[in-house]
Formats: sequence, C-alpha cells, structure tokens
Amino acid sequence: MCEIVPVTKRTAIILLMTLPAQGQQIEQPWYNKGLASIKQGKFNEAIRAFNEAIRINPQLTAPWLPVTHYFPEGTVLYYDIVGLTAEDLRAQMDALGPIGPDGYKSDAFTIWSTKWGWPPCQIDKATVSYEIMVLFPRWKPPRDASAQLVAKWDDYIRALATHEKGHVDYIVKNYRLIVDAIKKADCYTAELAAQAALSLLRSHDVEYDAITNHGATQGARFP
Ligand SMILES: [Zn+2]
Repeated sequence: MCEIVPVTKRTAIILLMTLPAQGQQIEQPWYNKGLASIKQGKFNEAIRAFNEAIRINPQLTAPWLPVTHYFPEGTVLYYDIVGLTAEDLRAQMDALGPIGPDGYKSDAFTIWSTKWGWPPCQIDKATVSYEIMVLFPRWKPPRDASAQLVAKWDDYIRALATHEKGHVDYIVKNYRLIVDAIKKADCYTAELAAQAALSLLRSHDVEYDAITNHGATQGARFP
C-alpha cells in the first residue's frame, strides 16, 4: 500500500539537510572506485564505475570543444581541475588523475572493454562490440589566467589528446580481430581464441606507451 505524504515544511527542511553541501561531489566515490579499478587492471569494472559517476553527474561528459572531437568513438570523462598557475594544475592532476596497472601516474587514460558472443555452436554468427572511455583533465581558464599559461595548456591537451587517440584508434580499427579469431576456431576452441585475440589487443596499449613514453615523445608533458 502506498500512502501519499504531502511535502510539508518539515519534510522540505529534512530534504535540504540531506542534500550534499555545495561543492561536494556525490559522484566522487564512483570516480574513486573507477581509479582503483584502473590501478588493478580491472578495466571492465572501471568502465562500470565511471558510468555510475556519469549517471549521477552527466556534466562529467559534457562536450568540451578542445578535446571532444578527438574521440567520436568513445566517451570522454573529464575530471575538472582549477588553478591559476602551472603548479596548481600539476598538483590537481596529480591528485585526481589515474595511475595505470604498471604504476605509471598519467593525466589521461584510455580504458576499453569488448563483448562477444554467438548463438550456441553457430560461430559463423559471432559478433563483437566495444566500449571506450577516455579519462581526461579539464581546465577552463578563469578570466585572470595568464595568456602564457593558457597557451601552454592548449598545447598540452592537444598533445595529450593525440596520445590517447592512438590508443582509441587502434581498438576501433582492430577490435574485429576478436570475431575473426572466433570464426577461425570451432565451437569448442572459440572462447579461447577470442581471449587470445583480446590479449593481443591489450598488448598494443603497453607497447604504444613504451614507444611513446606514455605520450612524452608526442609532446604530452606539463608544465
Ligand atoms: Zn598511453
């Protein structure tokens, strides 16, 4: 049975008291859980946690002109940073940015997951799909920010986005290798074949970061 309770002055006050204080971010626990999952190499869990954070606060993915257009195939989750000096921004990114499973502290991170399946023993009908999420710092320069810092920041995020785009593009171009591997296998070996293809795709991220020194050779260094 459902009883309709009118919103009285008293319940309105209780409602106000249970709302988070201004500036407090209620999506933060999910964001932190996502970061912890990245560190453990649990990328599917990271994507799930970040999607929860986005559900609570859709502003996390609000399009941001300098960066959004780099990643039409993925979701960009921005973590907002504030400050007026390069040191401020560096400290914020150090506090809020991701740490990879290899222990490397980076300012941006691309996570992706794939799903595959087929009707029982009809591996010729196998399908695969992907989900890509890019974690990225977002600083909207206040009016009194120096032009020099703004220019340095613009250069940085361009280089950082270029680096992350390398991770994203590889997956978009190659995720179908999983379905190719499944179709070359048989009903009993298909799952193993898919897992092997997935491992190969994952190894690209490690190789690409080694070759580019996590983007440093592409100019992604700040300040
Ligand atoms: Zn990278």
